[in-house]
Amino acid sequence: MNIDGASFVPTHANHVELERLGDEIAKLAAHLDAATARLLDLIREFDERGGWGNGFASCAHWLAWRVGLALGAAREHVRVARALGPLPKLKEALARGELSYSKIRALTRVATPETEERLLSVGRAGTAEHVEMMVRGWRQMDRKAETQESTRRHRHRALHVYPDGDGMVVIRGRLEPEVGAVVMQALTAAREALFRRAKDVPAGTSFVDGSPEAPNIEQQQADALALVVETALHRGMNPGAPSARYQVVVHVDASVLADADAPGQSVLEGGARVPAGTSQRLACDASRVVMRHDAEGRVTEVGARTRTIPPALRRALQHRDKGCRFPGCGLPFGQGHHIKHWAHGGPTKLSNLATLCRRHHRAIHEEGFQVERQPDGQLCFRQPDGRRIPDVPAPSAVPANPTDTLQSQNGGAGAQINTRTAMPGWHGERLDVGYAISVLHPRAISST
Ligand SMILES: [Zn+2]
Ligand SMILES: [Zn+2]
Repeated sequence: MNIDGASFVPTHANHVELERLGDEIAKLAAHLDAATARLLDLIREFDERGGWGNGFASCAHWLAWRVGLALGAAREHVRVARALGPLPKLKEALARGELSYSKIRALTRVATPETEERLLSVGRAGTAEHVEMMVRGWRQMDRKAETQESTRRHRHRALHVYPDGDGMVVIRGRLEPEVGAVVMQALTAAREALFRRAKDVPAGTSFVDGSPEAPNIEQQQADALALVVETALHRGMNPGAPSARYQVVVHVDASVLADADAPGQSVLEGGARVPAGTSQRLACDASRVVMRHDAEGRVTEVGARTRTIPPALRRALQHRDKGCRFPGCGLPFGQGHHIKHWAHGGPTKLSNLATLCRRHHRAIHEEGFQVERQPDGQLCFRQPDGRRIPDVPAPSAVPANPTDTLQSQNGGAGAQINTRTAMPGWHGERLDVGYAISVLHPRAISST
């Protein structure tokens, strides 16, 4: 390479060549954006139909695993895919390669069906940077309109607490932001306290509500509210000794524990029936009272707070597995799963144990997923239909000439893309965000 720079002064031939190269970049980029529209369509459908639900925490987690996106990028794809659902004009502009994915990402943060047409023209006229500036300005205007509503909100503050038909108590209300912030802070603190306590007790012990699954966020909030109220009433964070509160008693027939298909009872203390698979899971890594009943209902065995996996072995297990082993999960904590259940004579030793998070422990015991340890020591996970779940999925086959294939596919889908498809209408004039918002934002228009 020359360092005097002379070789970078374009000759005429060079200039034509570079122009052509630039055109090719612009055209292919527009094609990629058009293909991204299709990708987002597929993600939206997959997400809506819960295609990720068979073993993943979210559509983004599935996407990160299956496609190899960073989790943040995967979340953004899912967000944009969802946002585009009710925004057909922006969706089509991306599908035609007219607006880049970067612009669409920014616009979907503020666009509503009411405003998408105007924002589409913003996207067409400006560069990606202009669009970002406009979106920031748009949000400020949204906020300004909100403050005008705050006076109205103050008059409408309310909290309704009433019993529902089935004995549950319904709480519904609207709090002013500053009051709501304090409430949310207290709930967050209480949730953290509950979560810390859940980690202090042995893995596998159930959560406060007696169910073995990690509670979802709404359930956690409900538990947190209870703690906040208890704390307020008792004037001290002391709602009781955790060990007793977390204990779950399972009544399960000996035959059911050994064979989920065998007839017999499997109930939690209090009478709630649970599937045999649930009893097996609860017993799999148990620090709980397990009562085994014989055919006549007599208690044949009570393992009072038996720890199935001794602490030293649990530490070794944690050191070896470093968290859930289910492909694509990687949660840093979990329960010790007996690959061959102890009720079937499976030994409690490292080679027969695998760490699984609650979600995936459930998948194995109750949803038909399978795991086995292969002769080489590697774990092999399978879907309920027996198909293997790879740790890292093989990338999809790409045709020998992906560019041509992509362009002909986009052409087949009706997108007419050329080198100028994604060019902004901007001619270099200064962008006056304030003015632009004042003539485009619906609130700004209605207040003048
Ligand atoms: Zn298990
Ligand atoms: Zn997991």
